[in-house]
Amino acid sequence: MASVAPTPFIARGCAFGPDKAACSGHPPSTARRPAGRAAASSAASFFTAACLLPALRHKHRPRCQRYASSGTSGPRVAVVGAGPAGLATALALRKEAGLQDVTVLERAPELRPGVGGGVQLHSGASLLEELGVDLSFAQPLRRIRSRSASGADLLQLDLPSLLDNFQPLSGSVRRADGQPASCTVMRDALLEAMAGALPDDSIRLSTKLLEVQTGAQGQSATCRFDSGQEEFDLVVAADGIGTRARSFVFGEEGQEEEPRYTGLRIQYGVREAGGRPAGCEEEVHQWFGQGVYALTATYGGIGGKRFEMMAVVFREEAPVAENADWDPAEIKDSCLERLRSAGQPEEVLQVAAGCERFFELGVFERPVGLNRWHRDRVVLLGDSAHAMPPFLGQGANQAIQDAVCLARWLRRVNFAKEASGGSLETALLGYTAQRLPPVAVLGIESGFLGQVETLPGDLGAMVRENFFRVTAGTGLAGLVFLNGAIARV
Ligand SMILES: Cc1cc2nc3c(=O)[nH]c(=O)nc-3n(C[C@H](O)[C@H](O)[C@H](O)COP(=O)(O)OP(=O)(O)OC[C@H]3O[C@@H](n4cnc5c(N)ncnc54)[C@H](O)[C@@H]3O)c2cc1C
Repeated sequence: MASVAPTPFIARGCAFGPDKAACSGHPPSTARRPAGRAAASSAASFFTAACLLPALRHKHRPRCQRYASSGTSGPRVAVVGAGPAGLATALALRKEAGLQDVTVLERAPELRPGVGGGVQLHSGASLLEELGVDLSFAQPLRRIRSRSASGADLLQLDLPSLLDNFQPLSGSVRRADGQPASCTVMRDALLEAMAGALPDDSIRLSTKLLEVQTGAQGQSATCRFDSGQEEFDLVVAADGIGTRARSFVFGEEGQEEEPRYTGLRIQYGVREAGGRPAGCEEEVHQWFGQGVYALTATYGGIGGKRFEMMAVVFREEAPVAENADWDPAEIKDSCLERLRSAGQPEEVLQVAAGCERFFELGVFERPVGLNRWHRDRVVLLGDSAHAMPPFLGQGANQAIQDAVCLARWLRRVNFAKEASGGSLETALLGYTAQRLPPVAVLGIESGFLGQVETLPGDLGAMVRENFFRVTAGTGLAGLVFLNGAIARV
């Protein structure tokens, strides 16, 4: 199994191999069906993709391609970035698309323990389970409870009953044993579990992508890393919100824009479990007061150890960096002061006071327009394609869905055997057409929610509290949750 040890593995050669590509010109195969729970949604998704294909701008690419592979059979694939998106992609390409020569290239010298906070997983957890990731360390999540800072109940989402009420739709949010898949995990534990499901030597650390280019005919992609240059048949750019590859994909038409600051800042702290009231481990608690939104939750960590996280969100015109490296920050005192003056309850203060490490970041987004996510043999995936504010807890879930969706499209066109430019183009367009609409909607919803959750003043509080009560009373909140949680792969 792949290790997360700091030693980078030795780079394979990058010479062109023999020309093994089939230059068939046949239409791509669609005979193989996605397995299990996703089969029904896949048929609908295929239809959606087919309808949307003409809306996406694309050009015809050469239909013949020789492999950039240096020895192993089949196309050579680079996945840039060992975050949730990159690791899920490597797993899915191997398991779902039958690709063997898949390497994850990560700039960090190690997948460090203790980096980052916690994330909620919904369909992301069930998809990872299908990909062979052991999530037994995860903390089951059953309820999301929202209150005003003074303690008034605003909204409760009981996830098992929600899934039961929408039984025909919610299969993708269940584990193989039928239990709800929703859970909370620490980021480091998630990455360790995902890396552990990959073969040894499939992650190369200390390898930073500087630039990607394709040849005049688009027959292979050349990555320039800080350690040297290599050719691939496909480059999946899962390099997060600060992506290097995006400028190649969008550069041709000058559409590239910097990530957009949302005007919101997050500070959060992590501690070992023990600060929250006993019995609420399966609940995420949210409190709103004085323009300050606070959250506490319990997360499964490395080795099954339980951690707690306290996050506080507030408006701040001056952006701090997005902090994609998850570097710790010295903000404990200011964080506690902010919570006290916003009248946040004892549970939040208690967790915050016991936190051992704190992080701070500005909330940035990359809104989704009607763009393609690929050019030639380079495709964006996860935050590099559609970074969204985190207020619906969906960025990693959607990245995992992207990975499975891309792999299934590559399987449909039999990319493992026929790495032709034409069939690859079909797969990459299909992937984009299927994934773009849901993430575009989630990005807008999530951004809107972040603004409502931090509305300042008495009027802001009144609007927010009515918003929560109405969306709870009409069932809209549950539908928004389900809409994000259900897999569209
Ligand atoms: C506070 C907070 C809470 C969140 N909560 C949730 C949640 O509950 N549920 C959820 O689903 N999502 C949540 N998210 C969102 C989630 O963390 C992101 O959407 C997710 O991490 C995106 O995964 P990614 O792999 O695309 O990008 P990243 O996680 O950013 O990973 C990118 C990887 O690429 C590497 N990299 C970058 N540039 C290069 C380069 N040039 N060369 C090589 N490697 C490179 C980076 O080092 C990194 O390892 C939250 C985010 C935040 C900030």
